[in-house]
Amino acid sequence: MKINPNQLDRGYLKYKSEYDNAILKTLESGWYILGKEVESFEHKFKHFIGSNYCVGLNSGLDALILSFRALKIGVGDEVIVPANTYIASILGITENGATPILVEPDEFYNIDATKIENAITVNTKAILVVHLYGQAANMKKIKDIATLHNLFIIEDCAQSHGAKFNGKTTGTWGDIGCFSFYPTKNLGAFGDAGCIVTDNYEIYKQIKLLRNYGSEIKYENEILGINSRLDEIQASVLNVKLGHYSELSSERISLANLYLNKINNSKLILPKIREFSDAIWHLFVVQIENRTEFQEYLMRHGIGTQIHYPIPPHLSRAYNHLGYKKGDFPITESFANTLVSLPLYDGMTEEEIMYVINTINNY
Ligand SMILES: *Cc1c(COP(=O)(O)O)cnc(C)c1O
Repeated sequence: MKINPNQLDRGYLKYKSEYDNAILKTLESGWYILGKEVESFEHKFKHFIGSNYCVGLNSGLDALILSFRALKIGVGDEVIVPANTYIASILGITENGATPILVEPDEFYNIDATKIENAITVNTKAILVVHLYGQAANMKKIKDIATLHNLFIIEDCAQSHGAKFNGKTTGTWGDIGCFSFYPTKNLGAFGDAGCIVTDNYEIYKQIKLLRNYGSEIKYENEILGINSRLDEIQASVLNVKLGHYSELSSERISLANLYLNKINNSKLILPKIREFSDAIWHLFVVQIENRTEFQEYLMRHGIGTQIHYPIPPHLSRAYNHLGYKKGDFPITESFANTLVSLPLYDGMTEEEIMYVINTINNY
């Protein structure tokens, strides 16, 4: 059997006629940027998350960049962020000229809340929380720290659409929640898309201006903005998918539970779920010492895997100038060397996942 790490066409085929109709309807409408579909998606998504406002954007990275910009966080300011994340989280900070202060993760792969206070200085303005792999970080503790030290919280929810901590949705704990709808994400479009959610009207207005050249009324530019508009075709696709999201999400959780309950190979460390945290399983990530050998074994049996992420941001060439070296974040680096993501996608069949499980158990 051949199993890819991801198989995006399965997600499309699941609701093909609805996607086809939505896209055709948009094409026939003659209106392609910031129209009814975007408005309708913003409305539905803010209700889904439980926020007062939503602004559709071009990508998850733009959501991060514009969030710091709206909060006037820039040169000379420090932002606390997990060392173990996708580089986009860090780029959201450095694109604004601010300095990322990296903190090691805990055993759940999210920022270790007990290490945050040590990283706070007089220049700290915000904590950027990332709910990595679809599992909520320790938001109660992080919120308490932010309140005590008067810091903003920005949540990178690119992997956590609908995941909750203590019953409260990720994206509503902080000042701004940033979402990506990149095709592989749990709520994925068929192209680039993203959004922010917030309960703060001023932040909402500011990001709405920023996404469209700083302009609310055509040719009246109030601030220096960029172009980060969500397009109607992607919004129409997202409207369809959001309507099916609870079903898609429970299917993914069932698949992940099969991995959790049926993998019984002691060479692997399976993911743990934090008390009070929901996991929506963006990725199913296991830890294994001889990773390359394991990946090659699976490949010989037709099973593809991926690594999220093989090079932590502090060791990436792009961030040479920050002056970090190997050994600065040993937990993060050890994760980068031992983690591997098993296949998991919308429309994956029970037969496929049982094949992966049996192959793993025979390793
Ligand atoms: C995907 C992702 C982003 C960036 O989203 P894009 O839409 O690709 O710009 C940011 N942070 C995390 C954690 C992500 O996984």
